Amino acid sequence: MSRFWSARVHGLTPYVPGEQPRRPGLVKLNTNECPYGPSPRVLDAIRAATDDGLRLYPDPASTGLRQALARHHRLDPAQVFVGNGSDEVLAHAFQGLLQQPEPLLFPDITYSFYPVYCGLYGVAYEQVPLDGTLAVRVADYRRPCGAVILANPNAPTGVALPLRDIEALLDDHSLQPVLIDEAYVDFGARSAIGLIARHPNLLVVHTLSKSRALAGLRVGAAFGHPDLIEALTRVKDSFNSYPLDRLAQAGATAAIEDEGWFEHTRGLIVASRDRLEAGLCRLGLEVLPSAANFVFARHPDRAGSALQAALREASVLVRHFARPRIADYLRITVGTDAECDALLDALAGILRRNA
Ligand code: PMP
Repeated sequence: MSRFWSARVHGLTPYVPGEQPRRPGLVKLNTNECPYGPSPRVLDAIRAATDDGLRLYPDPASTGLRQALARHHRLDPAQVFVGNGSDEVLAHAFQGLLQQPEPLLFPDITYSFYPVYCGLYGVAYEQVPLDGTLAVRVADYRRPCGAVILANPNAPTGVALPLRDIEALLDDHSLQPVLIDEAYVDFGARSAIGLIARHPNLLVVHTLSKSRALAGLRVGAAFGHPDLIEALTRVKDSFNSYPLDRLAQAGATAAIEDEGWFEHTRGLIVASRDRLEAGLCRLGLEVLPSAANFVFARHPDRAGSALQAALREASVLVRHFARPRIADYLRITVGTDAECDALLDALAGILRRNA
């Protein structure tokens, strides 16, 4: 607190990311990172870009990366925007598209950065409760609003909406921007990118942090009508001309072009998720149906906060949200099978001890 702060800063409630431990040896299942490294071609591309060229600014438009993403998703580069992680892309969208005279709608339980951006940019919002199964019901969004944002699959629940529900939402809101945050889409949901041609109000946001194993490189993207992309570009060019450095552009382009590595690692994660779900159910936990690289689970008679603390004692990190409706759930990232087994063993020990 300081008298030098602006009124806006006084009023902020910043987002708190999951712990990045300094202590080695922890089983880290708390921030939905990929348990496998990025494609070897990514590392080669970054090494090749690590030369005297670093004295020069990078391409401000990230042209090569945007072309690679456009080719991959069968779009035009004018339909593609990239930023420093999808958090930055989302931030620009909140400022450039979702800030409307009427309130923005999003679920009561979703990515907890959304209300933070609203606070930062002064966006009025209304939260729409998830249904009793912790799923989004698009009919509940049929009301006057300025814009809608949904994560699909939702976070932290992992529950996905079918594409026909997204289409219904787009039809209901043809006069408002609709943002679908597909950070976890590659693990089991269907992307709405194919709907862009018919819905000029649709912006789809992706990240390379999860299914492309590049959380450390900070690259995210948005796809939509060129008019929506222009809004994001105008915000970006009024904020930072060079959000993606030379190494990030080189590495991300190589990641998008290595389909084989992507398919292989995503297949491993989906298989481990099924195994982890079965293991948690065997221990008596209730697990929501996950289409993501994490699961959301609760024990019928153990508090989520106590389980998280006990797991931490056992050197296993998972995420817990002390929020209404979900305070008894743990969000557990799908690790390697060995990491998932370590979690299951630790949890079995905790449950036995306190039986
Ligand atoms: N959207 C959702 C739903 C997320 O969970 C995350 C990860 N915390 C992000 C966006 C941001 O990911 P990144 O900035 O690493 O691209």
